[in-house]
Amino acid sequence: MGDAHYTGECFVFDYRTALNPQLEAMETTQCFACRAVVTPREQLPAQYVYEVSCPHCYNNDNLAAD
Ligand SMILES: [Zn+2]
Repeated sequence: MGDAHYTGECFVFDYRTALNPQLEAMETTQCFACRAVVTPREQLPAQYVYEVSCPHCYNNDNLAAD
């Protein structure tokens, strides 16, 4: 009984990991520059730099200059 349950748990874990390995490791956060909510998916592009910029304000030169 216990063995079958363990196998089931294992399958669910592997399935989710295969779906989005990076998203599982990251959390929704807030951009230090523009205060926009940055989802894990939005943290993947190069425009997102921790405490510097995010895809929402990356093209805003005023925020970057200040
Ligand atoms: Zn931003």
